[in-house]
Amino acid sequence: MKTVSSLLDEHWYQRYKKISKLNIRSSIYDVTNRCNLRCKGCFFFSSGEHEVAREEMDTRKREAFVDKEKDRGVNLAILIGGEPTLCMDRIEAFYARLPTFCATNGLIKVPRNRFPDMMVGISLWGDAEAEKILRGKDTFAVSSKNYEGDLYAYYLYTITPRQIGKTEHIIRKIEGVGVKVHMQLLSNDEGVDGFSWQPEELEDIRSEMDDMLDRYPNTVISSKYYHEIITTGKMMGRTFGWMECPSVTAPLDNREPCPKRLTNFIRWASDLKTMHRCCTSETRDCSTCKDGAAHMSWVMVNKRDHIRSTRDLQNWIEVYEMFAKLYQFIPW
Ligand code: SF4
Ligand code: SF4
Repeated sequence: MKTVSSLLDEHWYQRYKKISKLNIRSSIYDVTNRCNLRCKGCFFFSSGEHEVAREEMDTRKREAFVDKEKDRGVNLAILIGGEPTLCMDRIEAFYARLPTFCATNGLIKVPRNRFPDMMVGISLWGDAEAEKILRGKDTFAVSSKNYEGDLYAYYLYTITPRQIGKTEHIIRKIEGVGVKVHMQLLSNDEGVDGFSWQPEELEDIRSEMDDMLDRYPNTVISSKYYHEIITTGKMMGRTFGWMECPSVTAPLDNREPCPKRLTNFIRWASDLKTMHRCCTSETRDCSTCKDGAAHMSWVMVNKRDHIRSTRDLQNWIEVYEMFAKLYQFIPW
């Protein structure tokens, strides 16, 4: 029988041992229904998720809620919205109690005297031209000043089909401000013309992402297996989609048979009572979903299937390490 130790040499086994202890249990929280941008293709607004709940305004209730989440076994709070930095006190309710990650568009700086080591993921949708078309603003011009040299921040670069051939320019700009970058693909939830992926474009961007990882290994946080999974939507001959997705809210998950999934995962709306279907758009057609975290988690929860060959298991380890770095469970 193939086992982890029979497939790995000492170096890889030590890497495996480090991550196998982590036992990451994440959930996602909408901090607010508001944002200081309105990006075309934002899954939150395009699916009407900003209208399903009224924001919890009471700090004590929020703190009690986070304590209950901790009791539920959550050890990673992922804050999204809307724009969480519009509500620093709400961020603090999580940060004071749990390892916390904050997604932001980077226009407002998270004060480091208040949140010294909170990991911040700054969204970026391409070069200044693409950002102006999709987001109405060149956000990098602002966010790069706010987070220059910040060791606890990285850019979450959402690549669109229009970025093919242009990613190096962006990666170099990010490297220039001394921040890491992780790449994912746009799902184009609002069907903006020219921003939906064609099969040959996905092949092109996969090789471009591989190239960026090879050329900028100290700046790009990624793995080639992740690039393969996210561009093909295939893993071990299976196709990503509703019946495979690991990031469905547990109490709403009535799939039969239930696939391997994130333990106790819930995505909470801003009232901290309502639950959303999954980690991303409530209304997205799962067959078009390119959500990066859902694809990473898909690999991570399917460890047993990767105990097949040395390369398969190394691929699994690399994806797990990438996730653990992005949420600060292991250092860069
Ligand atoms: S910054 Fe983020 S939350 Fe705000 S509109 Fe854009 S994608 Fe949506
Ligand atoms: S939209 Fe994506 S993340 Fe949500 S259930 Fe479908 S496949 Fe999963």
